[in-house]
Amino acid sequence: MSNLIITDSLILPMTESRRSFSGYVRVKDGGIAEVGSGVPPKAMDGESVIDGSGCVLMPGLINAHTHLYQVLLRAVWEDLELMPWLRRIYGCARVLQPEHFYAGSLLGCVEAIRGGVTTLCEHNFLNPSPECAFETIRAIKDSGLRAVFARTIMDTGEIVPDCTKEKPDQAFRRIEEILAHHPRGEQLQFMTGPNTPPINTTPGLLKEIRRFADDKGLGISAHVAESKSVVECVRREHGKNGVVEFLHDFGIPGPKSIFAHSVHISNDEIALLKQTGGSVSHNPVSNMMLGDGVAPVVEMLRQGVNVALGTDGAASNHSQDLFDTMKAASLLQKVHHQDAGVIDPYSVLRMATAGGAKALGLESVCGTIETGKRADLILVDLDTLHSQPMNEIFSQIVHCAKASDVRTVMINGEVVMRDRRFTGLDEKKILADAKAANHDLMRRVDELSF
Ligand SMILES: [Zn+2]
Repeated sequence: MSNLIITDSLILPMTESRRSFSGYVRVKDGGIAEVGSGVPPKAMDGESVIDGSGCVLMPGLINAHTHLYQVLLRAVWEDLELMPWLRRIYGCARVLQPEHFYAGSLLGCVEAIRGGVTTLCEHNFLNPSPECAFETIRAIKDSGLRAVFARTIMDTGEIVPDCTKEKPDQAFRRIEEILAHHPRGEQLQFMTGPNTPPINTTPGLLKEIRRFADDKGLGISAHVAESKSVVECVRREHGKNGVVEFLHDFGIPGPKSIFAHSVHISNDEIALLKQTGGSVSHNPVSNMMLGDGVAPVVEMLRQGVNVALGTDGAASNHSQDLFDTMKAASLLQKVHHQDAGVIDPYSVLRMATAGGAKALGLESVCGTIETGKRADLILVDLDTLHSQPMNEIFSQIVHCAKASDVRTVMINGEVVMRDRRFTGLDEKKILADAKAANHDLMRRVDELSF
């Protein structure tokens, strides 16, 4: 593991106090050893230097909710509301092969790293065979990303193909197999969860999931109240006012729970999230693409709920770009409230860094630039036509900077991309393999009827 010093950049620590300063960061044994302002001390023996001049040095971005393989399904099913769209996404399980998951997930990881993501949460939900999850994890490991793999479960639902429905015990056995093969650590963590309650999970499964998660020390990831139709389902079939309220009966919201979307939740449910310590992954681009609605993010922040940002899969976002997502998150709240000052850029950038780390149980590992944390760092070029002149750094990172401005990416102290070139990944081969996988998948999808 190389020791190095990044000099002469504008540092955004993204800790609770809003500040930026010119300085340097020293990285030793994969961790942040020193953060200082001004001119750096002389490099030590064996220490290399990365010149950060003209760049901002900030924590790597954290994508708190995605489905990596879905890059193969960019712009395949458009103009559909959540339920008919999901019927097609789930239906794909009938033809998805483990090799599709590997090739698609690796392309998704590479796209994420190029755009400054150093940690992501892969919410896994289609498992026609156990190899599908294993191949996704292999792709994540090969990419060098830090990740949380959330292996979720579906056991019912008219739109869920039989090949991907599992009895709780069967799913738990498969998750135990994954845990046995991939020891948990700072680089790779695991969660479980009900995929989209209650449309594809029974109350029996929900009860068992809380027990299993506690038994194994796993967090919970779930799609929650993404569209009005999901809330109508919980009212009709379970007599509850909302999905969070329903899940509370099973002890699902908790300090290690991350609820993706949470678009249609009431103020009482936001209070429930605050009280139980649950986090939300806000996925504004996906919500807009599917016409779901606007998540009450401002109210969540006001009540003190931890909010992270996610892209969601590329089938409902078209990209894995968190810079796009940050801008969308900011603008969507402004237009929804018809109040330009309703959300500030610092809060948005916190969601994409420290908020994501907290949501994934990694707040002691990453999400800020502080001595003692792992060195997950990105250098973003500010000396561009669209970012200059610089007047307000936080606003301009959220509203001006682009994923393509990310120059250098370091994960756990390893430089995985330097000056836009990958140090170990064969980008051309990854792209060629993903195109071949897409071709094969589309041929199989064409034979399906939905
Ligand atoms: Zn999702």
